[in-house]
Amino acid sequence: MLIAISSGIAAAQNVAVDASMPPPPREKKIVLKHVLVIGQTKGFEHDSVTDAMAAIYNMGRETGLWETVLRTDTELITKKELSKNAKNLDYFDAIVFASTTGELDLDDGQKKDMMSFIKEDGKGFVGVHAALDTNYKWPEYGEMIGGWFDEHPWSRFNAPIINEDPEFPAVRHFPHAFTKYDEIYQPKAWSREKVHVLLSLDPTKLNYDNPRVHRQDHDFAVAWDKMYGKGRVFYSTLGHTQESWSDPDIRKMYFEAIKWVLGMTEGSTASHARPQGQEQR
Ligand SMILES: [Zn+2]
Repeated sequence: MLIAISSGIAAAQNVAVDASMPPPPREKKIVLKHVLVIGQTKGFEHDSVTDAMAAIYNMGRETGLWETVLRTDTELITKKELSKNAKNLDYFDAIVFASTTGELDLDDGQKKDMMSFIKEDGKGFVGVHAALDTNYKWPEYGEMIGGWFDEHPWSRFNAPIINEDPEFPAVRHFPHAFTKYDEIYQPKAWSREKVHVLLSLDPTKLNYDNPRVHRQDHDFAVAWDKMYGKGRVFYSTLGHTQESWSDPDIRKMYFEAIKWVLGMTEGSTASHARPQGQEQR
Protein backbone atom coordinates (compact mmCIF):
# COMPACT_ATOMS: atom_id res chain seq x y z
CA MET A 1 0.00 0.00 0.00
CA LEU A 2 2.77 2.37 0.96
CA ILE A 3 4.62 1.56 -2.28
CA ALA A 4 1.55 2.28 -4.33
CA ILE A 5 1.14 5.72 -2.70
CA SER A 6 4.75 6.78 -3.19
CA SER A 7 4.82 5.64 -6.82
CA GLY A 8 1.61 7.60 -7.33
CA ILE A 9 3.29 10.76 -5.99
CA ALA A 10 6.30 10.15 -8.22
CA ALA A 11 4.05 9.78 -11.23
CA ALA A 12 2.29 13.04 -10.39
CA GLN A 13 5.64 14.80 -10.04
CA ASN A 14 6.77 13.42 -13.39
CA VAL A 15 3.66 14.82 -15.06
CA ALA A 16 4.26 18.25 -13.51
CA VAL A 17 7.76 18.59 -14.97
CA ASP A 18 7.14 16.93 -18.35
CA ALA A 19 7.13 19.79 -20.87
CA SER A 20 5.78 17.54 -23.62
CA MET A 21 2.48 17.16 -21.78
CA PRO A 22 -0.42 19.52 -22.52
CA PRO A 23 -1.06 22.26 -19.93
CA PRO A 24 -3.60 21.64 -17.18
CA PRO A 25 -7.14 21.98 -18.55
CA ARG A 26 -8.01 24.89 -16.24
CA GLU A 27 -5.22 27.10 -17.61
CA LYS A 28 -6.90 29.97 -19.46
CA LYS A 29 -5.74 31.76 -22.52
CA ILE A 30 -4.72 35.34 -21.74
CA VAL A 31 -7.75 37.47 -22.48
CA LEU A 32 -7.27 41.17 -22.88
CA LYS A 33 -10.77 42.51 -22.29
CA HIS A 34 -14.16 41.61 -20.90
CA VAL A 35 -17.41 42.41 -22.67
CA LEU A 36 -20.89 42.23 -21.15
CA VAL A 37 -23.67 41.63 -23.69
CA ILE A 38 -27.21 42.38 -22.53
CA GLY A 39 -30.15 40.93 -24.48
CA GLN A 40 -33.05 41.89 -22.22
CA THR A 41 -36.29 42.68 -24.09
CA LYS A 42 -39.17 44.45 -22.36
CA GLY A 43 -40.84 45.46 -25.62
CA PHE A 44 -40.53 43.96 -29.11
CA GLU A 45 -38.55 40.72 -29.14
CA HIS A 46 -36.23 40.40 -32.11
CA ASP A 47 -35.47 36.85 -33.26
CA SER A 48 -31.95 38.14 -33.96
CA VAL A 49 -31.06 38.81 -30.30
CA THR A 50 -29.68 35.28 -29.99
CA ASP A 51 -27.78 35.59 -33.28
CA ALA A 52 -26.24 38.89 -32.19
CA MET A 53 -25.22 37.57 -28.79
CA ALA A 54 -23.70 34.40 -30.23
CA ALA A 55 -21.85 36.35 -32.93
CA ILE A 56 -20.28 38.73 -30.42
CA TYR A 57 -19.30 35.86 -28.13
CA ASN A 58 -17.65 34.03 -31.02
CA MET A 59 -15.81 37.13 -32.29
CA GLY A 60 -14.09 37.51 -28.94
CA ARG A 61 -13.38 33.81 -28.56
CA GLU A 62 -12.04 33.25 -32.08
CA THR A 63 -9.70 36.25 -31.98
CA GLY A 64 -8.74 36.02 -28.31
CA LEU A 65 -9.38 39.76 -28.00
CA TRP A 66 -12.11 39.59 -25.41
CA GLU A 67 -14.10 37.25 -23.22
CA THR A 68 -17.87 37.70 -23.24
CA VAL A 69 -20.54 37.30 -20.61
CA LEU A 70 -24.02 36.94 -22.15
CA ARG A 71 -27.02 37.92 -20.04
CA THR A 72 -30.69 38.55 -20.66
CA ASP A 73 -31.07 40.13 -17.22
CA THR A 74 -29.45 43.28 -15.82
CA GLU A 75 -28.09 42.01 -12.49
CA LEU A 76 -24.46 42.66 -13.47
CA ILE A 77 -25.09 46.32 -14.35
CA THR A 78 -23.97 47.62 -10.97
CA LYS A 79 -20.80 48.60 -9.16
CA LYS A 80 -22.05 46.98 -5.95
CA GLU A 81 -20.30 43.82 -4.82
CA LEU A 82 -22.21 40.77 -6.01
CA SER A 83 -22.19 37.37 -4.35
CA LYS A 84 -21.93 33.84 -5.78
CA ASN A 85 -19.09 34.63 -8.21
CA ALA A 86 -21.15 37.18 -10.19
CA LYS A 87 -19.06 39.91 -11.82
CA ASN A 88 -20.04 43.56 -11.48
CA LEU A 89 -19.24 46.42 -13.89
CA ASP A 90 -15.73 46.85 -12.49
CA TYR A 91 -14.85 43.54 -14.18
CA PHE A 92 -15.96 44.69 -17.65
CA ASP A 93 -14.44 46.96 -20.29
CA ALA A 94 -17.50 47.41 -22.51
CA ILE A 95 -21.24 46.81 -22.54
CA VAL A 96 -23.18 45.80 -25.67
CA PHE A 97 -26.96 46.19 -25.79
CA ALA A 98 -28.06 43.57 -28.35
CA SER A 99 -31.47 44.75 -29.57
CA THR A 100 -32.71 45.45 -26.08
CA THR A 101 -36.20 47.00 -25.99
CA GLY A 102 -38.37 48.94 -23.57
CA GLU A 103 -37.65 49.98 -20.03
CA LEU A 104 -34.95 47.63 -18.80
CA ASP A 105 -34.88 46.35 -15.22
CA LEU A 106 -32.54 48.99 -13.83
CA ASP A 107 -32.99 50.90 -10.59
CA ASP A 108 -31.59 54.40 -10.08
CA GLY A 109 -28.35 53.07 -8.60
CA GLN A 110 -27.75 50.76 -11.56
CA LYS A 111 -28.46 53.57 -14.02
CA LYS A 112 -26.00 55.84 -12.23
CA ASP A 113 -23.35 53.08 -12.21
CA MET A 114 -23.81 52.34 -15.93
CA MET A 115 -23.42 55.99 -16.89
CA SER A 116 -20.40 56.35 -14.61
CA PHE A 117 -18.89 53.19 -16.21
CA ILE A 118 -18.87 55.03 -19.55
CA LYS A 119 -18.58 58.70 -18.60
CA GLU A 120 -16.07 58.57 -15.74
CA ASP A 121 -14.37 55.19 -16.13
CA GLY A 122 -13.90 55.70 -19.88
CA LYS A 123 -15.27 52.28 -20.77
CA GLY A 124 -17.17 51.44 -23.96
CA PHE A 125 -20.76 51.02 -25.11
CA VAL A 126 -22.07 49.47 -28.33
CA GLY A 127 -25.77 49.69 -29.20
CA VAL A 128 -27.12 47.15 -31.68
CA HIS A 129 -30.30 47.99 -33.65
CA ALA A 130 -33.12 48.14 -31.04
CA ALA A 131 -30.77 49.50 -28.37
CA LEU A 132 -32.27 52.76 -29.67
CA ASP A 133 -35.77 51.44 -28.83
CA THR A 134 -34.82 51.22 -25.17
CA ASN A 135 -35.03 53.23 -21.94
CA TYR A 136 -37.28 56.08 -23.10
CA LYS A 137 -37.81 57.13 -19.49
CA TRP A 138 -34.10 57.54 -18.84
CA PRO A 139 -32.90 60.87 -20.34
CA GLU A 140 -29.19 60.20 -19.77
CA TYR A 141 -29.47 56.99 -21.80
CA GLY A 142 -30.74 58.90 -24.82
CA GLU A 143 -28.02 61.47 -24.38
CA MET A 144 -25.38 58.74 -24.13
CA ILE A 145 -26.48 56.70 -27.17
CA GLY A 146 -27.52 59.74 -29.23
CA GLY A 147 -31.36 59.60 -29.35
CA TRP A 148 -34.28 57.18 -29.51
CA PHE A 149 -36.22 55.14 -32.05
CA ASP A 150 -39.09 56.85 -33.88
CA GLU A 151 -40.53 54.30 -36.30
CA HIS A 152 -38.84 52.49 -39.15
CA PRO A 153 -40.59 54.24 -42.04
CA TRP A 154 -39.65 51.70 -44.71
CA SER A 155 -39.68 48.57 -42.51
CA ARG A 156 -37.28 46.05 -44.07
CA PHE A 157 -36.00 47.16 -47.48
CA ASN A 158 -32.91 47.39 -49.64
CA ALA A 159 -31.50 50.41 -47.86
CA PRO A 160 -29.34 52.72 -49.98
CA ILE A 161 -26.42 53.59 -47.71
CA ILE A 162 -23.59 56.12 -47.97
CA ASN A 163 -20.30 55.65 -46.16
CA GLU A 164 -19.49 59.04 -44.64
CA ASP A 165 -16.14 58.14 -43.07
CA PRO A 166 -14.21 55.43 -44.93
CA GLU A 167 -11.30 56.03 -42.51
CA PHE A 168 -13.20 54.79 -39.45
CA PRO A 169 -12.29 51.19 -38.50
CA ALA A 170 -15.88 49.91 -38.23
CA VAL A 171 -16.92 51.07 -41.72
CA ARG A 172 -13.60 51.05 -43.58
CA HIS A 173 -14.57 47.82 -45.36
CA PHE A 174 -17.73 49.34 -46.89
CA PRO A 175 -17.65 51.03 -50.31
CA HIS A 176 -18.66 54.68 -50.71
CA ALA A 177 -22.22 53.67 -51.58
CA PHE A 178 -23.89 50.28 -51.09
CA THR A 179 -27.18 48.54 -50.35
CA LYS A 180 -28.13 46.37 -47.38
CA TYR A 181 -31.46 44.66 -46.77
CA ASP A 182 -32.33 45.65 -43.21
CA GLU A 183 -34.69 47.64 -41.01
CA ILE A 184 -33.48 51.21 -40.68
CA TYR A 185 -34.65 53.21 -37.70
CA GLN A 186 -35.61 56.85 -37.82
CA PRO A 187 -34.01 58.50 -34.81
CA LYS A 188 -35.64 61.22 -32.72
CA ALA A 189 -33.98 63.62 -30.26
CA TRP A 190 -31.00 63.04 -32.54
CA SER A 191 -28.75 65.49 -34.35
CA ARG A 192 -25.65 64.87 -36.41
CA GLU A 193 -24.09 67.76 -34.51
CA LYS A 194 -23.99 65.58 -31.40
CA VAL A 195 -22.45 62.50 -33.04
CA HIS A 196 -19.97 61.48 -35.72
CA VAL A 197 -22.05 59.99 -38.54
CA LEU A 198 -20.44 56.94 -40.16
CA LEU A 199 -23.23 55.59 -42.39
CA SER A 200 -26.44 57.27 -43.54
CA LEU A 201 -29.30 56.63 -45.94
CA ASP A 202 -28.91 58.25 -49.36
CA PRO A 203 -31.70 60.91 -49.18
CA THR A 204 -31.93 61.04 -52.98
CA LYS A 205 -33.09 57.41 -53.10
CA LEU A 206 -35.85 57.36 -50.45
CA ASN A 207 -39.60 57.35 -50.78
CA TYR A 208 -41.03 60.19 -48.69
CA ASP A 209 -44.64 59.39 -49.56
CA ASN A 210 -44.87 57.70 -46.21
CA PRO A 211 -46.67 59.02 -43.09
CA ARG A 212 -44.07 57.45 -40.84
CA VAL A 213 -41.35 59.79 -42.13
CA HIS A 214 -41.07 62.44 -39.41
CA ARG A 215 -37.64 63.91 -39.92
CA GLN A 216 -38.02 67.08 -41.95
CA ASP A 217 -34.27 67.20 -42.62
CA HIS A 218 -34.38 63.68 -44.15
CA ASP A 219 -31.17 62.92 -42.27
CA PHE A 220 -31.29 59.21 -41.42
CA ALA A 221 -28.07 57.96 -39.88
CA VAL A 222 -27.43 54.23 -40.09
CA ALA A 223 -24.35 54.17 -37.84
CA TRP A 224 -22.56 56.71 -35.68
CA ASP A 225 -19.98 57.02 -32.95
CA LYS A 226 -19.46 59.56 -30.21
CA MET A 227 -17.84 60.24 -26.88
CA TYR A 228 -19.83 60.18 -23.67
CA GLY A 229 -17.51 61.78 -21.15
CA LYS A 230 -14.34 59.69 -21.30
CA GLY A 231 -16.08 56.67 -22.87
CA ARG A 232 -16.52 55.66 -26.49
CA VAL A 233 -19.99 54.92 -27.85
CA PHE A 234 -20.97 53.24 -31.14
CA TYR A 235 -24.48 52.65 -32.46
CA SER A 236 -25.88 51.12 -35.64
CA THR A 237 -29.43 50.32 -36.72
CA LEU A 238 -28.12 47.43 -38.85
CA GLY A 239 -28.73 43.95 -37.45
CA HIS A 240 -32.53 43.54 -37.35
CA THR A 241 -32.62 40.27 -39.25
CA GLN A 242 -31.15 36.94 -38.19
CA GLU A 243 -29.50 36.76 -41.63
CA SER A 244 -27.61 40.00 -41.04
CA TRP A 245 -25.55 38.22 -38.37
CA SER A 246 -24.27 35.84 -41.05
CA ASP A 247 -23.33 38.78 -43.29
CA PRO A 248 -19.54 39.23 -43.13
CA ASP A 249 -19.93 43.02 -43.62
CA ILE A 250 -22.24 43.42 -40.62
CA ARG A 251 -20.18 41.10 -38.45
CA LYS A 252 -17.03 43.00 -39.39
CA MET A 253 -18.71 46.32 -38.54
CA TYR A 254 -19.67 45.21 -35.03
CA PHE A 255 -16.35 43.43 -34.50
CA GLU A 256 -14.44 46.60 -35.33
CA ALA A 257 -16.92 48.71 -33.34
CA ILE A 258 -16.27 46.66 -30.21
CA LYS A 259 -12.51 46.88 -30.77
CA TRP A 260 -12.86 50.64 -31.15
CA VAL A 261 -14.90 51.19 -27.98
CA LEU A 262 -12.31 49.02 -26.18
CA GLY A 263 -9.61 51.48 -27.31
CA MET A 264 -7.80 49.00 -29.57
CA THR A 265 -8.11 51.24 -32.66
CA GLU A 266 -8.57 54.93 -33.39
CA GLY A 267 -11.25 56.85 -35.31
CA SER A 268 -12.78 60.32 -35.35
CA THR A 269 -15.55 61.35 -32.96
CA ALA A 270 -15.93 64.88 -34.35
CA SER A 271 -19.27 65.82 -35.90
CA HIS A 272 -19.30 66.83 -39.56
CA ALA A 273 -21.71 68.35 -42.08
CA ARG A 274 -23.70 66.20 -44.50
CA PRO A 275 -21.77 65.10 -47.57
CA GLN A 276 -22.01 67.47 -50.52
CA GLY A 277 -25.22 67.08 -52.46
CA GLN A 278 -26.99 65.33 -49.55
CA GLU A 279 -28.69 68.38 -48.07
CA GLN A 280 -32.41 68.46 -47.38
CA ARG A 281 -34.56 67.71 -50.41
ZN1 LIG B 1 -36.04 45.60 -35.78
